[in-house]
Amino acid sequence: MKKLFKKYNKLYFNNCLLLVDIFIEQDDSTYGYFDSNEMCIYLSPEYPREIIEATLLHEMVHLWQLDFDSTVNWVTGKNFHGKYFKQFENFIYLKDGIKI
Ligand SMILES: [Zn+2]
Repeated sequence: MKKLFKKYNKLYFNNCLLLVDIFIEQDDSTYGYFDSNEMCIYLSPEYPREIIEATLLHEMVHLWQLDFDSTVNWVTGKNFHGKYFKQFENFIYLKDGIKI
């Protein structure tokens, strides 16, 4: 996963993301999530590879938001999927057809 993180970091984020820990952990309620306190990404293993990779990318956008999206409220989760997230979503989809 770290290898993939590095690849995505280069492809979509100009290498501006700091490499964080990535944990694979069983969680039936979600594909994965980004923990902004512990600065790590959790991914659930029970899904097809394609979904896990798209989820990693999704969580990486949240990581990007930590430094570059001041509209996000990290306590309430407001704008987690706001306009800057959507811009990334569109950019990645148009570039490589990946739905994050
Ligand atoms: Zn999200």
